[in-house]
Amino acid sequence: MTAPLAVVVVGAGFGGLGMAIRLKQSGIDDFVILERAEELGGVWRDNRYPGVACDVPVHVYSFSFEPNPDWSRFFAPQREILAYLHHCAEKYGLGPHLRLGMGVARAEFDEARGLWSITTTKGTVLETRVLIAAAGLALTTPVLPDIPGLTTFEGKVFHSSRWDASTPLDGKRVAVIGTGASAIQIIPEVAKVAKQLHVFQRTAPWVMERPDFAIPAGQKALFRKRPSVQKLLRGAIWSLMEAFAVGFVVEPRINELRQKLATRYIAKQVHDPVLRANVTPPYTLGCKRILFSNDYYPSLQRPNVELVTERVREVRGRTLITADGKEREVDAIVCATGFEASEAPAPFELRGLGGHTLEEAWKDGVEAYLGATVAGFPNFFFIVGPNTGLGHSSMIFMIESQVAYVLDAIKTMRAKGLGRVSLRPEVQRAYNERLQERLARTVWSKGGCVSWYTTKAGKNTTLWPGFTFEFRARTRKWDEESYEVG
Ligand code: NAP
Repeated sequence: MTAPLAVVVVGAGFGGLGMAIRLKQSGIDDFVILERAEELGGVWRDNRYPGVACDVPVHVYSFSFEPNPDWSRFFAPQREILAYLHHCAEKYGLGPHLRLGMGVARAEFDEARGLWSITTTKGTVLETRVLIAAAGLALTTPVLPDIPGLTTFEGKVFHSSRWDASTPLDGKRVAVIGTGASAIQIIPEVAKVAKQLHVFQRTAPWVMERPDFAIPAGQKALFRKRPSVQKLLRGAIWSLMEAFAVGFVVEPRINELRQKLATRYIAKQVHDPVLRANVTPPYTLGCKRILFSNDYYPSLQRPNVELVTERVREVRGRTLITADGKEREVDAIVCATGFEASEAPAPFELRGLGGHTLEEAWKDGVEAYLGATVAGFPNFFFIVGPNTGLGHSSMIFMIESQVAYVLDAIKTMRAKGLGRVSLRPEVQRAYNERLQERLARTVWSKGGCVSWYTTKAGKNTTLWPGFTFEFRARTRKWDEESYEVG
């Protein structure tokens, strides 16, 4: 076995790459990034469905230290975001650190030596002082609906995040199950080419107008010449998005106003009163993720598209049978049915103090401190851990905040010669009590919906309950006093 590494980062998406870049910039070079797939990119590598694009303005959906003056659209398409991540990896010299096609099978903390011992999926063993899981928690593991007969469907069936490019849908009869963020991007594109499209909706989503546009060449030239202009724009967009959090967590009347606008949008876009009623959500806006699209409602009104609100009872042969007994024969089924989220399993087998697993620690629900550390798991950090998701702004802001926190912890460990830092259990307890108290007052708890934000028992394990600037302030410096150090 080779000498222990300083850091192992697991995952090469926005979180893992952001962490790795900051490590390098801080002069920490003895680290590797383990990535189970054969390519970097995280969700932007996995999601390749037609129409896939960023659903927050791209000027805030990119690293603050690496602005891109060349985005083609305000809501950039997936291929540009994936190319951006490749560019970042190359520019910051991450190539030699990347271990593609190598995931983590298990990791165990060696208490005597204060090191993590990692067995990779290739069977190799690595040792490291610090282990960082940036492997995605909430939106990584696809969920297929539990419909009898789906697995024996005689046509093609696939999940939105595992798009089967070898099955062109042109001229085909297609079913899309789900009407979430992925589905509303897929449906308008499939509607253009399919012979017939049946959209199976369980709960109508709130959809608002998407202020998208092609970024003019003059603007790109200006961004290149004066990066400060793009920075200012980024700040302005972030501030506006931050204002939306007021409606979620402080003043519901702001949300009510947005709900009126969304209702008016339905009235403007949907002409048939039955369809209008069917696409009007039965819960308060914001309770589930707000979706943005200009072509979703028009696509539902195409002659080759049908919105089905009956539950799919069974799949038989090539036929979907709904609860009312109606049969629809199709060639392909797209399951845009989301991911393991609030009850996501640990990203890999992790054994901390006393040989206890993270799964055991999370038996009553997923939780962490600042989405980064868990009591009983020394020298272990998450990027995009529990309760760091957002309903109103860009995850890249949260990722950069967490990266700063973890980096400061690592730098402090090195400066003070700390071999082991372990979160105090009472800190985790107090933090989560306060977090859940705050979440209980928000639209995500009181809005009358069932969403991927909360567990079946109603605990919100995914979202941060406030403003992103609060999170930034709390993660600016590593708080040594919250940890037992040695
Ligand atoms: P999702 O938001 O969880 O939506 C899943 C959809 O499938 C919902 O409409 C759900 O209905 C339906 N569904 C689930 N199980 C079903 C079943 N058994 N039968 C019938 N319908 C079923 O998943 P997603 O659309 O993939 O999006 C997940 C998250 O990924 C988003 O919230 C967002 O954070 C992120 N995302 C981002 C982008 C972007 O930036 N462009 C794009 C896509 C996704 P119910 O509402 O009734 O549960």
